[in-house]
Amino acid sequence: MRITEIFYSIQGESSFAGLPCVFVRLTWCNLRCTWCDSEYTFSGGSEMSLDEVIEHVESYGCRLVEITGGEPLVQKKPVCELVTRLCDLGYTVLIETGGSLDTSIVDERAIKIIDVKCPGSGEAEQNYWPNLDRLGPRDEIKFVIGDRIDFDYAVEVIRKFDLDKRIPAPLLSPVWGAVDLKEFAAWILESGIGARLQLQLHKYIWGPEATGV
Ligand code: SF4
Repeated sequence: MRITEIFYSIQGESSFAGLPCVFVRLTWCNLRCTWCDSEYTFSGGSEMSLDEVIEHVESYGCRLVEITGGEPLVQKKPVCELVTRLCDLGYTVLIETGGSLDTSIVDERAIKIIDVKCPGSGEAEQNYWPNLDRLGPRDEIKFVIGDRIDFDYAVEVIRKFDLDKRIPAPLLSPVWGAVDLKEFAAWILESGIGARLQLQLHKYIWGPEATGV
């Protein structure tokens, strides 16, 4: 499979934020979000076998692994095999996906963190809605919010799919520097939805250039 990087860091963008985690970042993405901070995954990378990836993951001795990208599900067969192998080995496996591809092919033991793309991303037309009908109880949904239009869109989707009742808490993640955080917090409180304000922790630790983990 084509791998951009494997590294050990602090999880920054889900309810697992703050925990040490091994990241397997796969190459290629089928989307081009306007605010993407991972463009370097669109090409390049190195070819690695499943065994090589697992050996690299095991070298860190950390039981939490996130498969991310790019869009990991572009390489659906090898990535599904990787997720299943890691689950078999007893890892807690997160798979972060842009939400345009079918997630039902992923091992049910993995926790899926699925983006719903808002209008400001330029990719809202690509949302694959059946994913939201098949969520497992530990799966997470993330909205990256660039402005009030995105926020209202997220609230509409959360209400339509009852997301704040079916999963622990949908994640509302403001685009770095694009929204005033006090204002953003007020929007959530006024909306009455049970969503989690999700700051991009890695950017607070390592600076605005740090990429999505
Ligand atoms: S889905 Fe993720 S990696 Fe792909 S363009 Fe959007 S933000 Fe970038």
